[in-house]
Amino acid sequence: MVIARSLKDAARLGSATTSLLLRRSEDLVCQNLMCAKIGEACVCRLAVHLSRLGKLKELDVAENDLGVLPEPVFELPALEHLDVSGNGLKDLPAGVAALSSLRTLRLSDNALTALPKELALLPLLTEVHVDGNSGLGSSDRVVEALQHRPQTTVVFGDAGDYSRRRQEDASTSSADR
Ligand SMILES: [Zn+2]
Repeated sequence: MVIARSLKDAARLGSATTSLLLRRSEDLVCQNLMCAKIGEACVCRLAVHLSRLGKLKELDVAENDLGVLPEPVFELPALEHLDVSGNGLKDLPAGVAALSSLRTLRLSDNALTALPKELALLPLLTEVHVDGNSGLGSSDRVVEALQHRPQTTVVFGDAGDYSRRRQEDASTSSADR
């Protein structure tokens, strides 16, 4: 694992980078004088860096209020874990279909009202978190399609319950030892 926790790290580590962790990062506040979003959350710098990170397996840009995801996010063929929670996203582009290695997708706490049907076609996808999107109902066609896949878990509703359950699982297994 080659982990970058800032865009400066990512630039230094270059294409060897496998994880880029930018949760609540100041790196995503725009400082580009040529950009209309200067001083606000912006993906312009992230987009440039991502296009050089072809081996990236993990990308965490949660809680940055980005509003949109940059196109190069959907050009990462090795990406296995994507966390875009807490970004005010109104939609998820169909380009997600290109993420053929994707296993975990965290979409919690956005403003999604639908999911692209392409999501249900990703062969390795095992975990999708959709809690905290008040406009996305459990009757959504794509949510239903995902729930019908035996290999996929859709975490829907109270995320707290889910993490508590995982903690209980963990304490049970440690008691067994
Ligand atoms: Zn910008």
